[in-house]
Amino acid sequence: MKINLAPQRDILALPDDLISQIAAGEVVERPASVVKELIENSLDAGTTEIKLRLIEGGKVLIDISDNGCGIISSQLSLAVTRHATSKIRSLDELERVESMGFRGEALASIASVSQMRLTSRTDNEAHASTISNNDNQWAITASAGAIGTRIEVAHLYHNTPARRKFLKTDATEFSHCREYFDRSALANPHCAFHLFHNDKSIALYPIANVQQRIHDVLGKNMPEYAIWVEQSIGELSITGMISPPDLSRARGDLQYAYINQRFVRDKIVSHAIRTAYADVLHHLRYPSYVLFINLPAQSVDVNVHPAKTEVRFRESGAIHQFIANSLKKSLAQTASTRAIQKPSEISNNPILLTESNANHPIIPSSQASQQIPLQLAQTARNYMDLLSSEPHTERFNPPDINSTVSEKSSHTVSSTIDFPLGFAIAQIHGVYIVAQNTKGLVLVDMHAAHERIVYERLKLVLDEASLAQQELLLPISFLASQAEIATLNEPECSTVLNTIGLTLSILSTSEIAIRSIPALLKQADATALARAVLSDISELGASHVLTEKRNELLGTLACHGSVRANRTLSLVEMNQLLRDMEQTERANQCNHGRPTWVQISMRELDALFMRGK
Ligand code: ADP
Ligand code: MG
Repeated sequence: MKINLAPQRDILALPDDLISQIAAGEVVERPASVVKELIENSLDAGTTEIKLRLIEGGKVLIDISDNGCGIISSQLSLAVTRHATSKIRSLDELERVESMGFRGEALASIASVSQMRLTSRTDNEAHASTISNNDNQWAITASAGAIGTRIEVAHLYHNTPARRKFLKTDATEFSHCREYFDRSALANPHCAFHLFHNDKSIALYPIANVQQRIHDVLGKNMPEYAIWVEQSIGELSITGMISPPDLSRARGDLQYAYINQRFVRDKIVSHAIRTAYADVLHHLRYPSYVLFINLPAQSVDVNVHPAKTEVRFRESGAIHQFIANSLKKSLAQTASTRAIQKPSEISNNPILLTESNANHPIIPSSQASQQIPLQLAQTARNYMDLLSSEPHTERFNPPDINSTVSEKSSHTVSSTIDFPLGFAIAQIHGVYIVAQNTKGLVLVDMHAAHERIVYERLKLVLDEASLAQQELLLPISFLASQAEIATLNEPECSTVLNTIGLTLSILSTSEIAIRSIPALLKQADATALARAVLSDISELGASHVLTEKRNELLGTLACHGSVRANRTLSLVEMNQLLRDMEQTERANQCNHGRPTWVQISMRELDALFMRGK
C-alpha cells in the first residue's frame, strides 16, 4: 500500500469538543456506559437513593436522579468541563483514590455526544440550577429541584450518526443497561435503586444488607443455601456469596467480582476463583459468585483503562493466593456440613423448577454434583455401576461420520495391531478411559477428547459449506430471557443460525421455539445448545461469530455435541473413541488447550513401585 505523505497539512491542536468526542469513543460506548458513569457519580456524591429512567433502551433518554451532595451552581460549568474533577488534586491522591471517578471526563464526553441537562442543588442553596447544552453552548438557569442531582441525557449520538449505527435494538441496549444497574446495586446495598424502562417500573431494590441485596438482585440464582464467604488477613478481606458446586452453570454469566466496590473483570481474580473450585467442579461448568475484595487503595492501580473494569495489583501473587485459599476454606467447610445432593434430589428441589427470573434461568447440573469428592455411599454406587454389565440408559452414541474402526479389532486387547492409543480396558468414575498400548498405560479424558473430535469435524464441514440441519419432529420451546429474544431479533442473527443449521423462532414475548438443530449435534440438549449459541452471538457479535470469532462458536457447539462426563461407555464405544482420536488432527489438545490424553510408560509405572531398583 502506498501512503501519500505530500502535501503535508499543518499541524493544529484539536478543538475541545472534538477532543471530547474522541474521548467519548472510549468512555461512552453505548447507553449502558452512560448509565455506569452516572451511577458512579451519584454514588461518589454519597447518595442513598438512585432513580434511573430509560426510554427505548436509553437511546432516547437516560434520566438519573440522586439525593447526594449536589453541585453548587457556580461550579456547574466546571462539572461539564473536560479534565475537571472534585475527586483528586495530585498524583499522590490518584494513587490512593477511593472514589469511583477521578478522570473528570465522563460528563464532558457524554455531553459532547448527546443533549444533556444537569439540575443540581446543594443543601446550602435555596433553589436548584440547571445547565444544559444547545448547539455547543452551555446555558445556566435557576430551576426547581430537591437537594441532589438529576442528569438527563437525551438522544445519544444524535450528532455522530456513524456511532449511532452501532447501537443495537432497544431490548439489547436495555439489557446492557440493566446489567450495569444490577452490578452497581449489588455493591451498594446502603443505597436504594429504582429502575424504570419506558415508564414501567422494572426493578426496585430497597436499602438492605449485603446478603439481602444479593438475593434481591439475583433472586433464586443465589439461593438461601449459597455459601457465605467472609475471610480476612490484615488489610485484605473478601466477603460475598458463592454457589455450591452443584448449582454451577453452563456459562459464566453470574460472576460478579469487585475490588474496593468497583466491578472488575480481572484474570487474576477469576483464575483464583477457578482454582478454588478446581477439585469440586467439572472444568466445563462455571461457578456463580458475588465477591467483594477489599484492600488498601495504594495496593491496586485502577487507572489502567478509561472504563476502569481492569485493575493492576501491586502484589498479584499474594492476592491470588488469598482469594483461592479463602474460597477453598469456605467450600470445604460447606462440603463437610452439607450432604451431597443426588441428582434425584436436585430435580425435586423447587428452586430449580421454578423459573423465577427469566433473565437468569437456572440450568441444573446433576453431573457437576458428582464431581464433589465421593462419600462412601456414592463410591459404592459407582462401584456397582462398574460391575453391572448393563450400561446406563443415557448412552454415548459414536459420532456418525468417519467412523473408522471395525468391531472386531476394537474388542481384542491382545490384538497384534499396534494402535497408537492402544485398547480400552476400563472407565473410571465416568471421567477417564484407561487404555493399554505397547508403551504402557494411556489415560484419556473422555469428554475433552470427544469435544476435540467434534470440534475438528464441525470445522472441516464448515470450511466447505453450511452445517446440515436436522428437523425436529416436534419443535421444542423454551422460556427465553429478554436478552435472548433481543439477540434473535438482531438482523444478522439469522445468517449465523442458517449457517450452522439451527432454526429458532420467537413464539411469544418470552418463548423461543427450536425447529431444527445441526445434524452433527443431534445428541445435544437442544435448549442448552440454542441458549449457548444465542449467548455467543450476543457476546461475540453476530457479524463476528462466523469470521474471526468462529473458533469460539465452534467450541461452544462442540462442547454441547460431545459426550458428557459420567456417562458409562462400553468397551466398543471407548475403543471407537480412541480410534477417532487417532484420526483427528490435534487430538491431544481439547478446545480449551488442555491435553485430552496422557501416556504413562512402563518405566514410569515401574518407578512408582521402585521396581528394578
Ligand atoms: P469524575 O467523576 O471523574 O470527577 P465526571 O465528569 O464524571 O468526572 O464529573 C465531574 C464532576 O462533577 C465530579 O468530580 C463531581 O464533582 C461532579 N458531579 C458529577 N455528578 C455528580 C452528582 N451526581 N452529584 C454531585 N456531583 C457530581
Ligand atoms: Mg464520574
